[in-house]
Amino acid sequence: MTFRALVVEKEDQGPTSASVMVLEDDRLPAGDVTVAVEYSTVNYKDGLCIGPGGGLVRTYPHVPGIDFAGTVEASDDPRYKPGDKVVLTGWRVGEVHWGGYAEKARVKADWLVPLPGGLTTRQAMAVGTAGFTAMLSVMALEDHGLAPGASEVLVTGAAGGVGSVATAILANLGHEVAAVTGRPEQEEYLKSLGAKRIVPREELAETVKRPLEAETWAGCVDAVGGAMLARVLGQMRYGASVAAVGLAGGAGLPATVIPFLLRGVNLLGIDSVMQPYDNRLRAWERIARDLPMDRLEAMIQPATLADLPELGASILKGGVRGRVVVDVRA
Ligand code: NDP
Repeated sequence: MTFRALVVEKEDQGPTSASVMVLEDDRLPAGDVTVAVEYSTVNYKDGLCIGPGGGLVRTYPHVPGIDFAGTVEASDDPRYKPGDKVVLTGWRVGEVHWGGYAEKARVKADWLVPLPGGLTTRQAMAVGTAGFTAMLSVMALEDHGLAPGASEVLVTGAAGGVGSVATAILANLGHEVAAVTGRPEQEEYLKSLGAKRIVPREELAETVKRPLEAETWAGCVDAVGGAMLARVLGQMRYGASVAAVGLAGGAGLPATVIPFLLRGVNLLGIDSVMQPYDNRLRAWERIARDLPMDRLEAMIQPATLADLPELGASILKGGVRGRVVVDVRA
């Protein structure tokens, strides 16, 4: 038996190269559940794992794809049986373990969750790690007191994957979303997801000396980090929280502690990779309930395994809009 996969190869200190190959089933790694993958997606981390590696990929040849949805083909674990629909995000699959850019994946049962009721495998991957993390961010903000009607909620990197899903969920929950984008041509798209206002990236990219500015945002989902996050912290309303999700704009944080001390601002770290099982289920249930499927559909760009090298390079340059859905069987 064979399966098709996107295989990334690297020789010594040379650059990586990625191409679609046919592999024998005995190349699959160890694991207790074999899944016939139907859909995967392209997240920022996938861009790194398809291309330069970013310190995430340990050994080559490698099959990237940090998330997938499909049907169980074989299982040595009593929790899953052939025919079950499943979803996987995180656990360093697609980084240190072979991932979802293949017609088959073999993983630990602990890493899977059942496909949430109400979602198809395609919709689950339209959400993917980016959308799952957006939901975790919204849940963290709610746990720290965010409720609709407070004031505007800011989403940075809004036209990207995390940002698009966060915008759609927050707007659907009744929040007024201000969407930060460096792509003015995406204004109509962001408004179609429910954003009330567009904030040009330049407005928040500039660093200011004052540690505090006017109290503006009731909450923030931040996919950008760096100088933008530092600036946003000084604009949060008293007691408000920022969910720190990403580093698309930089891993540094050139900030002061003043917003924490004088305004009780909270900086909430969001990690999707090692989330405990129960919280995963809670997040997926919330996605099925709170993310309007027509808005999710508007975010989708379809793709095949062969498109991945180009899409991987594009997402690293901030060039992908919304969510890519990869039909691995196409
Ligand atoms: P995308 O590339 O889809 O989105 C990132 C967006 O950030 C871009 O679309 C762009 O939005 C904006 N952006 C890009 N470069 C810059 C820059 N230099 N300055 C300011 N804004 C910029 O990626 P994802 O949505 O998949 O991921 C977003 C971030 O979240 C990544 O850093 C990723 O690693 C992280 N992440 C973290 C997870 C976790 O568990 N903590 C899980 C998933 C993702 P626009 O064009 O609208 O300005």
